[in-house]
Parts: sequence; C-alpha cells; structure tokens
Amino acid sequence: MVRLRFAPSPTGALHLGGLRTALYNYLYARRHGGEWILRIEDTDASRAVPGAVDNIRNALAWVGLEYDFGPGKHGPHGPYFQSERLDLYHTYTNKLLDSGKAYRCFCSPDKLAATRERLARAGSNATYDKTCLNLTDEEVARRVRVGEKHVVRLNDGILPRRTTPPDLVFGTVRDAHASLPTDPVLLKSDLYPTYHLASVVDDHEMGITHVLRGEEWLPSLPLHLDLYATLSLAPPQFAHLPLLLNRDGTKMSKRKGDVQVFDYKKRGWEPQAILNWLALAGWGQQAELDGTDAKQAPDSTRVMTMDEIVEEFDLTSLTHRRTVLDP
Ligand code: GLU
Repeated sequence: MVRLRFAPSPTGALHLGGLRTALYNYLYARRHGGEWILRIEDTDASRAVPGAVDNIRNALAWVGLEYDFGPGKHGPHGPYFQSERLDLYHTYTNKLLDSGKAYRCFCSPDKLAATRERLARAGSNATYDKTCLNLTDEEVARRVRVGEKHVVRLNDGILPRRTTPPDLVFGTVRDAHASLPTDPVLLKSDLYPTYHLASVVDDHEMGITHVLRGEEWLPSLPLHLDLYATLSLAPPQFAHLPLLLNRDGTKMSKRKGDVQVFDYKKRGWEPQAILNWLALAGWGQQAELDGTDAKQAPDSTRVMTMDEIVEEFDLTSLTHRRTVLDP
C-alpha cells in the first residue's frame, strides 16, 4: 500500500505552492488506495512563525484535504510534530556515532567560517576540513563530559558508492553530488536534528513509500539517499514537483507570505476551484515536451469533482517546467 506525507515547516501561512504539494500527495494516495499524513517539521525554532501550524491545518480543512491518521495527541487525525520525536532522532544519531558513521564536531561558527574561506581560496569544493574526525575517543569523551557545545556530522568518507538518484518527475539528476556539503550536520548543538536527518528517519519510521515535495529539495536528494544507505534502509520513491512561480518570476515562499490560501477565500474563491486550478497547473505539458502521447490535461473549462481529479491524476503527466501562477 502506498503511504505519503505532506511535511510543511511552520514558517508561515500555507501558500498555493504548499497547497499544490499537499494536493498531489493526497491525490496520489487516493488514486492508489493508500494513505497520507501531515507532519509538521518544526525542528528550527528560529524560523517558526506563531500561528502557522493552525493556519496550515485550517487551510487544509477548508479545501477538504483530510489526512488519514496521526499520533492521536492533537485530535483524531492530528499531525505529527517532529519536535515531539527528538528521542527517536537521538537513537538514530547514537547508532551512527557508535558505528563510526558519524562523529562529534566541536568547531565554533567562527572557526568553520575561516575554514570554509581557506578551503575556497585553495580552490577546494569542500566545506569542512574534517578536523574533528581526528580527535581521539578520550578527547571527545572529555569535551562531552564538560558540556562543550558540539554538532554531530555524517562521516561521508565511509559512504557506500554513490548512485545517480532517480526522480519520478525529473528523471536522472545529473551532477547531483557536486554541491553537497562535506560531512553534513545531522544533529545541531541544540540537540534538534537537521531537516535531512529528521526527514529520512521519519519517512522510514512512518512507512512512507513515495515522497512528493517541492523542487527546491531536489539538491538534497543525494544526501538523503546517502543517509538511507548509511543506515541500511531502503529509500522511498521520490517525485519533486516543479516550482510554482509568482507573476514576477520569483519563487513562492511561506516566509514572504505570497499568495496565501486564505487570500483566495477572502476574494471569494471556492475551494474546489482552487484545487482544480492547482491540479491542472503543469499537467499534460510533459507529453508535448517529450513528443509522447501521455495522458493529456483534462478539459480545464469545467470544474471537476475531487473523484474526477483523483481518477485523472497521474505523475507521469507532470511537467518539470516551472509554472507561473497568474490568477
Ligand atoms: N519541511 C519542508 C518544507 O516546508 C518540506 C520538506 C519535505 O517535504 O521533505 O518545505
């Protein structure tokens, strides 16, 4: 059975780009008789915006995208909150530390900035010089004992051979590893996981079979696949959805408050019209680009019911061209 998730960070009100991601997760789950969940990715307190979680939940409820289950604490289908799952991320981190696949790094932000500058001047692509990988176990234990602030990094020198990541929308991702940071941070000094660790752990623990998310996460795909390999876990399938752009060509962003879902409610839009419009954004163009006869977009002059949209929905019809939403 397929299981999907919509995993917004609570960094602002739900905008149309986020709603499109939620919708496609919902449609794929329904189309294949599966389930989908809502997961609030609140591991970065500095970016959290008060009221954002309620806004996201209310917007999904208003358009009628009901998620299937949650841990039960926040209502019968209440979302998962990553901030309530820290023990789990620590368990995974400890497993990686114990097996030498991760290590503790005590370098200060100033020292890291100086290192990065030095490496760049020397023409290196590396972002860290792995200084702390060479600390002895005794030294690490002493510094932990005295409570020295540190992060946990993945030891990318021990990674299995990297494969080219497949993506259900973008196909093969070329040069995917070129821009990855050296020994990426998995656990921050505040003991919260980074997005990368939390996302991989949760997608595995929650039995997610398909990850449908915005194109902005495509560069993270190789790192996520590295993490699955390091943890000896089978990865889900990935489909990155091309960005929706504002009229001026900029990317929609929750933090900038662009085209919020509730702005459309205020302007008198019906939820079903919004869902139709988002479902059709970018639909069917891939066939034209490829010269294939993949499913064409349904008639866009008629408002489809949700059942009809579910019936028509197909990932292979999606374009990977960016779409400008011009309401
Ligand atoms: N938390 C991310 C966001 O709000 C989504 C990442 C994901 O779906 O993996 O954009």
